[in-house]
Amino acid sequence: MREYQETLRRLAEQARREGCGAEEQVPLAPLTSFRVGGPCGCLFTAPGPEPARRILRQCSEEGIPLLIVGNGSNLLVSDRGVPGAVLRLSGGDIRFHHGRVSCPAGVPLKTLCRAARDHGLSGLEFAYGIPGTVGGALFMNAGAYGGEMSEVVTGAVAADSVETGGN
Ligand SMILES: Cc1cc2nc3c(=O)[nH]c(=O)nc-3n(C[C@H](O)[C@H](O)[C@H](O)COP(=O)(O)OP(=O)(O)OC[C@H]3O[C@@H](n4cnc5c(N)ncnc54)[C@H](O)[C@@H]3O)c2cc1C
Repeated sequence: MREYQETLRRLAEQARREGCGAEEQVPLAPLTSFRVGGPCGCLFTAPGPEPARRILRQCSEEGIPLLIVGNGSNLLVSDRGVPGAVLRLSGGDIRFHHGRVSCPAGVPLKTLCRAARDHGLSGLEFAYGIPGTVGGALFMNAGAYGGEMSEVVTGAVAADSVETGGN
């Protein structure tokens, strides 16, 4: 884990200047449902998709392994921790257009379900009790009561498929 520390320190300083959270040697246990897990080199938190993309790109360019964490409800982290960086996504705006809903990956599934209900959209009822984020649910194809994400998702934007144009 030490091999990445100097680079992570530099990236952490830069991320803080850009409005992100960045803490070194953070235990991951509090970020998971099972409350187990050792530290990561640096825990980044991004206030939206654009800064998240920057962190992803920088870690990739520097050869630093990165784990994305949503709500940590499907993660069992080793007591030894994870090498490199962890990026935690949270929150973001939910938008409605032509009978569909879109949101950033860090939005809690429950929040999305409530918003869909309030806008008269059906289809996400099965997901209300699943304690994850939208990104985690998509990654896991979360499902319950005979429904699953693959049946209701019409598209997803991958952070590394978007040209951010610049630094
Ligand atoms: C009490 C309890 C009840 C549960 N009930 C159900 C259930 O009914 N149905 C069900 O399907 N699951 C259930 N789960 C499991 C879990 O909630 C789901 O798998 C959920 O989708 C995980 O989402 P998360 O945000 O917590 O992801 P995390 O646990 O944070 O991450 C899970 C995986 O997804 C990846 N990931 C997370 N976010 C992203 C992202 N934005 N981009 C790329 N990769 C990402 C992570 O790297 C990791 O590999 C339950 C878990 C608990 C603790």
